[in-house]
Amino acid sequence: MNTESMVHLVGAGPGDPDLLTVKALRLLQNADVVVYDRLVSDAILDLIPPGVSRIAVGKAPGRHSLPQDRINELLVSLSRAGRTVVRLKGGDPYIFGRGGEEAQHLAQHRIAFDMVPGITAASACSAYAGIPLTYRGLSSGVRFVTGHCRADRPLDLDWRGLADADTTLVVYMGLANIDQVRSKLIDAGLNPTTPAAAVENGTTGRQRRCLTTLDRLPDEVQKAGFQSPVMVVIGRVVALAETLDWFEPQLRAPAATAGGRQLGHG
Ligand code: SAH
Repeated sequence: MNTESMVHLVGAGPGDPDLLTVKALRLLQNADVVVYDRLVSDAILDLIPPGVSRIAVGKAPGRHSLPQDRINELLVSLSRAGRTVVRLKGGDPYIFGRGGEEAQHLAQHRIAFDMVPGITAASACSAYAGIPLTYRGLSSGVRFVTGHCRADRPLDLDWRGLADADTTLVVYMGLANIDQVRSKLIDAGLNPTTPAAAVENGTTGRQRRCLTTLDRLPDEVQKAGFQSPVMVVIGRVVALAETLDWFEPQLRAPAATAGGRQLGHG
């Protein structure tokens, strides 16, 4: 296999550069070109050596500066030009990251690739917010769902199955449809006073947490003015967050003050 022309699909984790894997860092340092999404933080982009080309391909919520098929083609053409490509994606590429589609496209075009998992936002944001996703006696499982759907459609999830007091529910991209998530879960039988949290800019110097109950979640999030990226966690384990709080974002000052843009969603 010719490593010179390989595409590495790499998870960047949720924002804190210390959460990059050793392998991700090594690949970034040895790349010819890094193709990255907007969810990748500036603090991580700063780790790319100066001589390495960078190509931003968008993926901010609601707008894609390059459509997915163009991104797929770009990866193929860079690789065919003999460049060592790192395709850097927020969190884990295979969790709501369309990493599977990119890998499939590379496989179809017989481009050598490998896959470096990243710490996904669900585990990172909950860890930094003091929420164990499972906990003996409180939560026997966890489900990751997307709150994203086409603007003209209702959110199509198995609400009966998700309204389960014994497990934890994590909603990616849940901010826009947070009202719907709340009312569908309550309609499906989940107790309105179930503990619920939202974590904005998790793991970064600008992290904020909102700890509340399911019925109050949309109002509280709106009152606090939360903006994407926001992770929503619903379940009894959220009640542990006060006790297990440890992360003090302001102590991670370089990230908080470095020119305003910590997570690029612009
Ligand atoms: N592949 C990514 C998820 C991409 S979907 C992963 O594995 O983490 C984008 C969604 O992830 C955002 O809308 C938000 O819900 C969540 N997210 C990603 N980074 C986040 C962060 N730092 N803080 C809060 N939520 C985050």
